[in-house]
Amino acid sequence: MNVLLLGSGGREHALAWKLAQSPRLGRLFAAPGNPGIAEHATLVDLDPADHRAVVDFCRKEAIGLVVIGPEGPLVDGLADNLRTMGYAVFGPNKVPAQLEGSKGFTKDLCARHDIPTARYVRASDRLAAEAALPEFSLPVVIKADGLAAGKGVIIAETAAEAEAALATMFDGSFGDAGASVVIEEFLTGEEASFFVLTDGIDLVAFGSAQDHKRVGDGDTGPNTGGMGAYSPASILTPALERQAIDEIVRPTIAALAQQGTPYSGVLYAGLMLTAEGPKLIEYNARFGDPECQVLMMRLETDLLDLLEAVARGRLGEAEPPRMRDGAALTVVMAARGYPGTPDKGATIALPEAGDARVKIFHAGTAVQEGRLVANGGRVLNVTAVGSDVAEARAAAYAAIEAIDFPDGFCRSDIGWREIARRG
Ligand code: ATP
Repeated sequence: MNVLLLGSGGREHALAWKLAQSPRLGRLFAAPGNPGIAEHATLVDLDPADHRAVVDFCRKEAIGLVVIGPEGPLVDGLADNLRTMGYAVFGPNKVPAQLEGSKGFTKDLCARHDIPTARYVRASDRLAAEAALPEFSLPVVIKADGLAAGKGVIIAETAAEAEAALATMFDGSFGDAGASVVIEEFLTGEEASFFVLTDGIDLVAFGSAQDHKRVGDGDTGPNTGGMGAYSPASILTPALERQAIDEIVRPTIAALAQQGTPYSGVLYAGLMLTAEGPKLIEYNARFGDPECQVLMMRLETDLLDLLEAVARGRLGEAEPPRMRDGAALTVVMAARGYPGTPDKGATIALPEAGDARVKIFHAGTAVQEGRLVANGGRVLNVTAVGSDVAEARAAAYAAIEAIDFPDGFCRSDIGWREIARRG
């Protein structure tokens, strides 16, 4: 079967690498892709925002499955248009993708169906938002409603900070994303990410992970897209995972099906493990980046079979996903300046061959005049498997030593929570 994969990050490199292992794969195309993805796929110059061009390409190349990596095209309704034209798509339609595209949509759905999450108020003007603030104790969480690339969440420690946050949101700094805000109660606990595959009716667990949002060691400095991750997150015990499925994920999927807008794809639940049990912080409508990299390294089942079963509404008949024992861990190597303006163009030299337990996924790389160079904030994802997180981490950091990227940097403590837990 021919497959079109949309996206260009480390997440899509991991998906391409895993899809390429399927004996059922015919040709793999990726748009726009990156030099790592090019090892497994033919890169094509297609703009995912141009839905007609994507449909035309699918027809021309007899594409049997389209896999949409990032959230932008999902929230933009690309999956709807492809489905209307008869193509199988991995990724939700526009309305169910609102689980990621609108925080207010998700909070209202949770409220209607008694899904555990932080208490909240929605407001679409500054006065109404300010009037709601006294209902919350400090710190209070202020979120732009729409997609803001992880930057639309402010945790205000004082009333003055909360008011300043509202002023920033409503002055247009977040564009349309900030036209409406969600104010919510601050939850205390440890965070974990939990993934399920669903075709809108059936669902299967697809593993857990923990990522590292802050740029610096010890979880310090500004937020980033993610500096590393590991899987599984043992803090999400089997009992908590069952509770998260029964109280949060399954009711969400059932609610969307019931309202005639079923969710098909991967549903990524960002959970806070509070003293009262798991509560939903956010949903994402796609695999996380870099969480996808560790999930793909652990997955033993044929990815193409799974994604196709989801896309065709046949998840109930598919072999359930099987993850290898042990753990996987990924360390993000970023370009100097990230998460501000990263330096581009620095040369990178990767080792010819290395440890079989390690895979280097490309994120922001490019080939210029025959040289591999940095071309984005997050550049490489050095990912390893091991019998536990400590072993995977040792293998990943050893591999980093062999990479020549003097202008790059990474955190030195990915996996610290898990290692501290295990003593
Ligand atoms: P991203 O897509 O980058 O994960 P986002 O912009 O969609 O982020 P959220 O995931 O909702 O935003 O929030 C970002 C982070 O803010 C969370 O990972 C969590 O650390 C913190 N946070 C969000 N809501 C709460 C809350 N109610 N209580 C405590 N912390 C919170």
